[in-house]
Amino acid sequence: MKKWIFSLSLLLCASFINSPKINHNEHEHASALTVAPKMLKASDARFIQPYSVNAGYLAVKGMEVKGFDAQSLEKVEQAFSVLEKVVNSEEFKSRVLNFVNTQGKTEFASNKGLTNTQIYATFMDGRETLQQNTPGEMNYYLSLYNKRYSKVIGWTNGDINTININWKFFKSFKPSDVAGNFAHEWTHKIGFDHKSAAEHDSAPYAIGYIVREMAERAAKGEELH
Ligand SMILES: [Zn+2]
Repeated sequence: MKKWIFSLSLLLCASFINSPKINHNEHEHASALTVAPKMLKASDARFIQPYSVNAGYLAVKGMEVKGFDAQSLEKVEQAFSVLEKVVNSEEFKSRVLNFVNTQGKTEFASNKGLTNTQIYATFMDGRETLQQNTPGEMNYYLSLYNKRYSKVIGWTNGDINTININWKFFKSFKPSDVAGNFAHEWTHKIGFDHKSAAEHDSAPYAIGYIVREMAERAAKGEELH
């Protein structure tokens, strides 16, 4: 039990979505890339076709990854790779559609009135609140920082594309832990929040846990279906 509480506290995430000011031009900075070339995929026609429909596959893309050394970048890439496998699996779909919250209801906490199916569809559509023109993509703008006396693994807010990652936790995280945290933070990017770091059945937490658990099994060589 103690170990469980400890692992939950590690997934703490600060999110501040209290300011209504949104900069709709932020996606224009997507071309300023500082990431290793192999992490980047060829530019995609979907960039210039706003509001096209996602055919179903969700691609994970590093758009701007700042502050990571070569070894850490390798871990980021491993996390991206397993994250993409997880979110495109049938098991992920089934687990999101059938998710049951702590009240025993088949719905997420803080779900904004959306059903599990609608949340899954929103997730797989891949349109971040600030980047409506990139369907079919989980776009990651990452920035590494180091705060030793903090319980925050990573944070973002509704006004920025960037997800800030705390080195304090990242340094000892396995790629599967990183994948879970990336999924949590990206679920904020598509507009879902949690009331507190204890709301473990909110979409960001619950989806983060599903991804982490599946990624861990994939790391052990299990094939995901
Ligand atoms: Zn969070």
